[in-house]
Order: sequence, then C-alpha cells, then structure tokens
Amino acid sequence: MTLNNFLSNLENKNPGQSEYLQAVRDVYEDVFPWLDNHKDYTEEKLPERLAEPDRTIAFRITWRDGKGNIQINKGWRVQHNNALGAYKGGLRFKEGLRLDTLKFLAFEQTFKDALTGLPMGGAKGGSDFNPKNFDAMDIERFCQAYMLELYRHIGPDIDVPAGDIGVGSREIGYLFGTYKKIENKFQGALTGKSPAFGGSCIREEATGYGTIYFLKQYLENSGGALQDKKALISGAGNVALFAAQKLLDLDVTVKSVSDSDGTLEFKEGLTHDLLNALKELKFEKRGRLSEMEEGRFKSQVRYHKDKQPWGLEGANIAIPAATQNEIGEKEAKDLLDSGVETICEASNMPLTSDATKYVRGLKTMTILPAKAVNAGGVAVSGLERSQNAEYQHWSADKVDEKLQSIMSDIFKTCLRYGEGDFVKGANIAGFERVAKAVIAYGAN
Ligand code: GLU
Repeated sequence: MTLNNFLSNLENKNPGQSEYLQAVRDVYEDVFPWLDNHKDYTEEKLPERLAEPDRTIAFRITWRDGKGNIQINKGWRVQHNNALGAYKGGLRFKEGLRLDTLKFLAFEQTFKDALTGLPMGGAKGGSDFNPKNFDAMDIERFCQAYMLELYRHIGPDIDVPAGDIGVGSREIGYLFGTYKKIENKFQGALTGKSPAFGGSCIREEATGYGTIYFLKQYLENSGGALQDKKALISGAGNVALFAAQKLLDLDVTVKSVSDSDGTLEFKEGLTHDLLNALKELKFEKRGRLSEMEEGRFKSQVRYHKDKQPWGLEGANIAIPAATQNEIGEKEAKDLLDSGVETICEASNMPLTSDATKYVRGLKTMTILPAKAVNAGGVAVSGLERSQNAEYQHWSADKVDEKLQSIMSDIFKTCLRYGEGDFVKGANIAGFERVAKAVIAYGAN
C-alpha cells in the first residue's frame, strides 16, 4: 500500500481529525520508505496497528463550582499502545480541547516513550476544562471530579498519567490525593507528584533541562558550542522557563518568552533576576506576561502584544515551547531570514506539516524533533515510577545524571537512525522499538 492510500483510508476512518492525521503523516513519511526493507512489518500490518489507539475512553465530568452552579466538561484518556510498558503520558486541561488533539499526542507519546529506553507505553488524556476561568478552589473541585471517573482506568501497571498544559504539580496533588482516597493505596499511579509525597526531584525541570541537554549535544557534535548562541523561546510554562534557566546556567543569551497574549522580549537578554520574577508571575501568581511591562523590570523588557517571538532579529536558535502548530511556513521563513539555524522542538508538533517540509528541504536549518528533544520530562516520570516501585527517593544529582545519560542515548539513537536527519532518525527508531515488541506478541 502506498502512503497516500494508507493516509486516505485513515482519513475516511477518522474524518476531520486533522491533528491526528498530521501526526501520523509526519511519522509515516519517514517510516514508509524504510518499510520497503522491512517487509515483515508491512505484512503484519504494523503501520495500521500502530496508528490506531488500543482504546479511547471518553467520559462526562459533572461538578459543582464554588458559586453553586453545575458545570459539565468532557474528559478523555487515549491509551495508544502498551507494547513496551504500561500506558504513560500527560493530562491536558485546555479550553476547546478536542479528542483529535489527544489522539495526535498519544500517538507521538508512544514513540517518544520508546525513545527513552524505559519500559513505558504511550497515552494522553485531558479535558476541555479551562483552568483560566476558575479559582484555585474550583480547580481542586474539578480535579476531584475528574479523578472520580479516571481512577478506574489507571494504575501503576496499567496507565500512569502525569501533567501537560494546564496540569502542573498543584493539579497532580489534587488528582493523586483523590486517587489515593478512592483506592486506599499509596502507589505510583501518577507522576509529576511533589517530592514531598513520592514525586521525583527535578521532574518539574526535566523537560526544559532535557531539551537543552539534547541541543548542547547536537551543537557539540556538529562542531559548535552553545556558549555564543542566542535563543528565542516561546511559551512561559515549566518547559519554557526551565529551558531558559538551563540556557542561562550555560551562559546562553535568551531573547524571549511568550504566552497566548504576546511576546516578552529581553532587550539585553534574560537575567537570573528576571527569570525569578517570571517564575513567581507564572507559577505562583498565575499572571500574564504583559504585567512585566510595569514594575521593576520594565526598562529591561519590551512587550509585543499578539505577537509570537519568531519575527525577532538576531537569534540562531528557536525553541518553540508553547503548543502544537505554532510555526507555519511563514514563521519558518521569518526564522530563516533572521538567521536561525536550529529549531529545537520543546513543544509537541510545533511545526505545521508545511513548515516541517519547508525546513527539512533547507540545508541551512535543522529541526531537532519534539519526540526526542522533549522526552526528558517523561523520562524522569519513568524514573519517578522506579523510585515509587522500590519505595525510595533519589537525590536531585542522581536523577539529573540519569536524565543526562538518557538524553545522550536518545541523541545517539537519532543520529544513527537518521544519518544527520534527526526527524527521520527519531521517527524510525521510535517506530522500530514499538514494532519489534508488537510483532513478538502475535495477533493481538
Ligand atoms: N506531558 C509530558 C509529555 O508530553 C509528560 C508526560 C509524562 O510525564 O508522562 O511528554
């Protein structure tokens, strides 16, 4: 079967699920040519079996807010594949979230988790609940109601959710507390917990740190160094801010962060003081970046309302760390014009298909793909599971050392499989690891 036939069949079965179809297309464009030399996988229908989730659970969440009003939300868990281990992947709470998005994320997660080399399958879940519309007490109520439904589908050897957009350590605390209460068991059915109660050190930092470990290795391998570089970052969640922190630690100039309202440019580069203020604003006050225009840092920043960072001049590295499809072909061209040579994908599927095709066709710009670059988060989730299973708590140094070694292995794997094309390397290596296990299990 040709790729086009395969994709049109998939589209007929999943009409309108554009992000899911995009994710499958992006991976299979690399996998299909490789399958020509791996006929056993085609005969055993691996492409079909790995595109389709094992199961999709959809449910209603009804809860009463602090004003006494009944609220109704949609909830899902997409358990994509557990060939390599229990289902594993985050929960996203976001206004307007669709099953389509979670199917793309669960598909990607399966190959990302495979790349970590840890025994984890792939899943993703979430809700169309919009945390921005509710106060902390309503968020607690919602998390409890969400877990009242989710608990029956998860467990340390079944499916282990974690955080994602809209779900941080506060929400994981509420979700885990509810799970523990219902099951009357203290066990590692969720990761991203606080280190105060079974969480791993540096889980919060891991996706951002891992991103920079990967980038550093890539630059060193191609004869460069991070030190003299300038980076644009989008997003202002934990991925963006901890990537920024690691860059600062390595003396790299960080020129921007952003949120859904606009971009905050750092005129002379980000400083530790500014970063601390941003962490307080985003993690504690849960405010907007526009607030930085006022107050003690106003002379150091410039705020660009309704703008992404990709038009800013003078950077060599772009680190999208906001959300999917944040860079289209136009933005990719802007990046090229402004001198960016490396797009280091910290968010999942940040480039549209057109943008990916455009950049991969260039000799002067390289994509470091999300499923490899941002695997550090789920890798430390895997380490959190190990700590929970052995009733131990490891030091931050130990976890960080393991994270660096996992990122380095992922880098080498992508290099070997892609021969310089990291997108291809990550896609084929991830696919092969899952496919090998699936084929060994026979027809199930
Ligand atoms: N949501 C994160 C990701 O995209 C983390 C998942 C996890 O730790 O299970 O990989």
